[in-house]
Amino acid sequence: MSQDFRSFSFHGCGQGNFPDPAATISASVGQGGSNNSDDTITIQTLLNNVPAGNGGPQPRLAMDGIVGKLTIGAIHRFQARHLGWSDGRIDPDGPTLPRLRSYSANLDASGLDAPNPNQQRRAHVSIMAESIRRTIAISVLPHARQAIRKTQYELDLVMLKLNKEVLHIKDLFRGGGPEQRSFRVFNTHFAIAQLSTREAKQNLNFVRETFATMRAILDRRRGSFGGNPWGETIVEVDPITEYVKELEHTIAYSPYQTGNQKRLTRLGISPFRIYFTNLIDGSSFDRYLYAVIHELAHFVDDEKKVKIEDHAYGFQEKYKTLAHNLRIRNADCYSAAAFDLALGNARLAAIYPNLRVIEIDPVIIH
Ligand SMILES: [Zn+2]
Repeated sequence: MSQDFRSFSFHGCGQGNFPDPAATISASVGQGGSNNSDDTITIQTLLNNVPAGNGGPQPRLAMDGIVGKLTIGAIHRFQARHLGWSDGRIDPDGPTLPRLRSYSANLDASGLDAPNPNQQRRAHVSIMAESIRRTIAISVLPHARQAIRKTQYELDLVMLKLNKEVLHIKDLFRGGGPEQRSFRVFNTHFAIAQLSTREAKQNLNFVRETFATMRAILDRRRGSFGGNPWGETIVEVDPITEYVKELEHTIAYSPYQTGNQKRLTRLGISPFRIYFTNLIDGSSFDRYLYAVIHELAHFVDDEKKVKIEDHAYGFQEKYKTLAHNLRIRNADCYSAAAFDLALGNARLAAIYPNLRVIEIDPVIIH
């Protein structure tokens, strides 16, 4: 993976942990299988590369390395569609894996068809698919702006309360004011309840500035080099996925402004765009929306020279124990918080099921 890109996959953003589509498994996965974590992630990844209309899982599987009824159900579904029978299990030398693997390696850009050797038709469908992808990507932008505005508003209410009425940070957990739920959500994603009140204010101020910068970028109010480098729209379809091996498991990516400009230019891409690849085709509107908010948080570090990186993703267990000082510089904390707060926990949980109504760092109230 080149450092020129931040890339977002179903698995997360940044350096991909995806197994190669040609990857094998060491033991069986599924109903009654050995279900090793690494093997399970391989199978979950391969299954997720299969469009729903072609026997793939809908919604897509959490790639958590755990075999549950959803993963087993997805294996049954794929086998029934492609083999005409199903036992819910994939063996290293069985008939399902080659089918799954070849499918993933030849994934059609449209997400609608099985592997199709007819190149001319693929090219035609690909243009259709790109048009749809661009339309969806552009249509999420007002929603991203609205979600960020709502998050800013709720954060302002919490800050007002904190600045005027609260002696101790834990007081925010008391009473039933409307800001209490907001505070709990901010606490879930930025883990501030155990800080001193002063430190909590500093942390929340940083979060507030970051959301403000994200919104400014979306509103095209400024860019590092003046004017409006973000152009007509900050999102674009990926022109190069099929040719750049390192991006083959990526659903979205954004080049660093500090990246190799010559290389970017040669590839025909701009450091001021978030690119969506054909692997997001068939995904939900919210997947696009989540990816945009996540990538916008990364853009902030270009603007502010503060690095907002990927320390933990919402699907990882370590997300729940990540230290507060890393959270305020963790891109997924911003997208997860905005989803949780502005769009509702149900929509966040549809993307990361393990974040269904959790509270990180809960405070005991006596
Ligand atoms: Zn990222």
